[in-house]
Amino acid sequence: MRIGYGFDSHEFRPGIPLKIGGVTLAHDKGLGGHSDGDVLLHAITDALLGAVAAPDIGVLFPPSDQKWKGADSAVFLREALKRVRDAGYSLANVDASLILAAPKIGPHAEAIRVSVAKLLGVPAACVGLKAKTPEGLNLENAAIAHVVVLLEKRRAPKSARKKKKK
Ligand SMILES: [Zn+2]
Repeated sequence: MRIGYGFDSHEFRPGIPLKIGGVTLAHDKGLGGHSDGDVLLHAITDALLGAVAAPDIGVLFPPSDQKWKGADSAVFLREALKRVRDAGYSLANVDASLILAAPKIGPHAEAIRVSVAKLLGVPAACVGLKAKTPEGLNLENAAIAHVVVLLEKRRAPKSARKKKKK
């Protein structure tokens, strides 16, 4: 088994869409910075990459590269999943904590979980999501995500296992 941990934070900026976990939420501000600013997908991507000791999201997709400006963060996630598969692992589960003052995530938590599960190719029951407000952190204008993932070694197909025994 392998464990991976990812962290990300983005600043809210007016006039751009807010995307969290691949879901666009109605809000007067969005998350600026790298690509579409999807703080949750970025933290999941880094957790997956970290679990297989691959370079992190900022190395693979440099924010300075105009190519990634406004990019769909699902692209980063797909690359991380590919690296996980290539390393011989599959995703067992993911658990995430989101920290932001607004908007309230509760009413959207299920939609975000389903979206993330779909992007990861796992059942929604394998995606944990908690949302918290930044009590005492003085971070009213930021969104933060902490993510852990667990990977399992993929079982080799029966034919391959027989070959190994020879
Ligand atoms: Zn990010």
